[in-house]
Amino acid sequence: MATQLLFLGAAGEVTGSCYLVDTGSVKFLVDCGMFQGGRDAQRKNRRFAFAPKDIAFVLLTHAHIDHSGLLPRLAAQGFAGPVYATAATGELLAVMLPDSAHLQEKEAERERTTPLYTVAEARVCLSSLRQADYGAAFRPHEGVRCVFRDAGHILGSAIIELFLSDGKIVFSGDLGQPGRPIVEDPAPIEEADVLLVESTYGNRNHKSLVQTLDEFAFALNDTLASKRGNVVIPSFAVGRTQEILYYIAELRRQGRIPAADVYVDSPMASAATRITLRHAKLPDLERVRFTESLEESMRINNVRAGAIIISASGMCEGGRIRHHLRCNLPRPECAVVFVGFQAAGTLGRRIVDGAKSVRIFRETYPVRAKLFTINGLSAHADRAALLAWLGKFRRPPRQTWVVHGEPLAAQSLKDDIVKRLHWRAGVPDGGDCVAL
Ligand SMILES: [Zn+2]
Repeated sequence: MATQLLFLGAAGEVTGSCYLVDTGSVKFLVDCGMFQGGRDAQRKNRRFAFAPKDIAFVLLTHAHIDHSGLLPRLAAQGFAGPVYATAATGELLAVMLPDSAHLQEKEAERERTTPLYTVAEARVCLSSLRQADYGAAFRPHEGVRCVFRDAGHILGSAIIELFLSDGKIVFSGDLGQPGRPIVEDPAPIEEADVLLVESTYGNRNHKSLVQTLDEFAFALNDTLASKRGNVVIPSFAVGRTQEILYYIAELRRQGRIPAADVYVDSPMASAATRITLRHAKLPDLERVRFTESLEESMRINNVRAGAIIISASGMCEGGRIRHHLRCNLPRPECAVVFVGFQAAGTLGRRIVDGAKSVRIFRETYPVRAKLFTINGLSAHADRAALLAWLGKFRRPPRQTWVVHGEPLAAQSLKDDIVKRLHWRAGVPDGGDCVAL
């Protein structure tokens, strides 16, 4: 039988990445991500569309929860095989999966239901990780050869080349924007019979890095130069925080911002930064303090001026950032700098949208701090970068599937692929099954 490819997630949406490959002699998954956002996502997370015990192994593109977050549940429900991932991805998962499990346990307690998985189940699942190195071919099963290539999206992220007896499938995973610090540019791929390409920003281009850094320097200077207030930066712990530290060091080195104390106040961000330092080079992080304990975190509340406070969560929904917003948001001499996407319904989005006051910990606080939004720092390739990466193929794939994008973004990239590259391309629906 011809190999079958089943789209189980990230089809017409950006979360829940999961593809099932069935060669006839073996079934395996590429990614096992959590669906995020609302009731519908919660429902989809509860039920696998296959029997976990039938899955021989998992190939994992990167550590983000929307690609890895259901691995503990998969293992708890009968999957007993290995999970192949890069070393850096494995180290990040060791922090992220137990953290995700902890959130599941807390939520289940609130909602009086059973958690999606427990911290103990997350730890069990970590023991099934096997290391895959960039560029080194391996055979997870007879008749399946596999090579991971650097996707340049976050630390450890991979494009997966899959060589089967009836053809070659390439999974782009999440592709990074070229020219970014800490990570390499996405590796070029030259051939595939079937290609799955992400499309998060398939219909948009990012601002240039030069312009983005100008905006960031302006936002920091505006507050730091007055020496009267603090700058608060809500930031995703993994990836974005390290990138922000890099840019602060770089702007400082260029003499474009004054010296300032930088606090990284998120245990997850601190752990992710330590892992990053093991795998990549960061410039000298002068005057950066990583706070671990709650006491240390609370002491930052006494700092009235001259500090840059980076904390999670990135959309201000949970974590220590809310304490820093509570202290600094009501003060006109302070600034809040948003460096990531703020989804509808989040506290971050309400502030960005111009709320005059917001509720934090059941109290109302006026929004008087200056607000800045830096939009150019996405970890995903934009439309131009996606097309440039696709342009490196030496011949058109027999079929290209555009995945991991909202419907408009996916459709737009598909149209570009058909019109500009003259390839055969489509946007699959969740649940679609195609033969190779
Ligand atoms: Zn990602």
